[in-house]
Amino acid sequence: MARLKKPNLDSVTTINVDGSHFSPQPADVKGRFTSMRRWFGLILLVVYVALPWIQIKGYPALFFDLAHRRFHLFGLTFLAQDLWLAFFVIAGLGLGLFYVTSMFGRLWCGWACPYTVFLEHVYRRIERWIEGDAAARRKLEQAPWTGDKVVKRVVKHSLFILVALIIANVFLSYFVSLSSLYEYVKRPPLENAKAFGVVMFLTLALYFCFSWFREQFCIIICPYGRIQSALTDDNTMVIGYDTRRGEPRGRGEDSGYGDCVNCQRCVQVCPTGIDIRNGLQMECIGCAACVDACDAIMKRLDRPKGLVRYDSLVGLNGGRTRYLRPRVIVYTVALVLGFLAMIYLLSGLHSVFADVNRMKGQPYYVTEAGVRNQYQIRLMTKLNEPTTFRIQVVDAPDGLVLSGFDEEIILEAQSEGVRPFLAMIPTDKYAGQFELKLLIKAMPGNDELTKSVKFLGPSAYVIRESTVEKVAK
Ligand code: SF4
Ligand code: SF4
Repeated sequence: MARLKKPNLDSVTTINVDGSHFSPQPADVKGRFTSMRRWFGLILLVVYVALPWIQIKGYPALFFDLAHRRFHLFGLTFLAQDLWLAFFVIAGLGLGLFYVTSMFGRLWCGWACPYTVFLEHVYRRIERWIEGDAAARRKLEQAPWTGDKVVKRVVKHSLFILVALIIANVFLSYFVSLSSLYEYVKRPPLENAKAFGVVMFLTLALYFCFSWFREQFCIIICPYGRIQSALTDDNTMVIGYDTRRGEPRGRGEDSGYGDCVNCQRCVQVCPTGIDIRNGLQMECIGCAACVDACDAIMKRLDRPKGLVRYDSLVGLNGGRTRYLRPRVIVYTVALVLGFLAMIYLLSGLHSVFADVNRMKGQPYYVTEAGVRNQYQIRLMTKLNEPTTFRIQVVDAPDGLVLSGFDEEIILEAQSEGVRPFLAMIPTDKYAGQFELKLLIKAMPGNDELTKSVKFLGPSAYVIRESTVEKVAK
């Protein structure tokens, strides 16, 4: 039987001396954290699959409609013009992650990262189901290619590919909607070559990652894992081994031993193959499997749990963890301010859009009839139903005449329209440039927008002088 490589601090456990990959086979573990993680992972998986099915205001709850450059998030619709809001979303997510990391270390990695969720709660479970526990899997790995091994491997990898295909299709549905995805699936692949290519690429990438690459993604590639040490400090909650209590490790009657009986259970269950007793390591994804494994041993030995536990490095060394620290305060203040700013900006977001611009050509025309400006109004609705726009001029100066101006414009669902119109004011009423204010009301939704555009013209004096001259002639 293959021997486990002994974890050490000089090299990554899952990389052999010759550079080849050593695939750890973590042993099964039971315990409170394992159960909680399993339930949490299940909830996340359900959410991932269910979101494209849940309809809010006629759209999937989360729908990145790239083809129409519209993004639907839980009933809110964002157009390309609203893209600046992405700054708050990205900054908020980044700061949120910084905050959680500075407080709780790699909680995200072990509990919520999609990679961990799929690997631990889907792929490893399939593997466990087909090939048995860790010892059986290691034995199978070393066994010659018998009929039984071939069947097990074919079934396992077929299921791996099938699951990767499902994950990739669900992922695509976030961008094209379920109905379009269904249409794509019914038609020959080359009719929708781009979508087909994306699904195939994702399927292969997922299959590669979850069937072979596995923990190496977290150890070698993930940038979040790389910046951990910059985000944490000695008061950050991590998973650690209580050296003061556990050492010297060993078993037997000798009263000089600490609580660690050197049973290696914490090493056997670790998905990244490390020994947490060597101290905090970059490879630790905070999955808490070693906590449950050690607690079970301590329970069996009738010793207090928590030899391996969630604690800060300060706490593990017998000190008192400081939760309120400058970096935590800074992250909290930044998060709260960013959140408040986003709420404020979102409250001003409309389901319709309007813009009034001057038409190409001269800024204004002076004729016998008066001074004339030419405009165009651009309207857009994010609603999933026909939208009626009612437009009226507010505080119109005396004598203003609008032509080609529709007081009511109806747009199809999720569409936009442009209407040109003229504004003219007779010479004798013209008193100089002014702001043309439009009040735009949209139904349904009762959205109200106010738009202003400058009415340009020469000075009133010049107009009057030229009129007097003409009369004199
Ligand atoms: S599981 Fe606990 S007792 Fe066993 S080796 Fe690990 S730390 Fe020591
Ligand atoms: S050391 Fe413990 S918490 Fe860290 S990855 Fe291994 S089992 Fe999970």
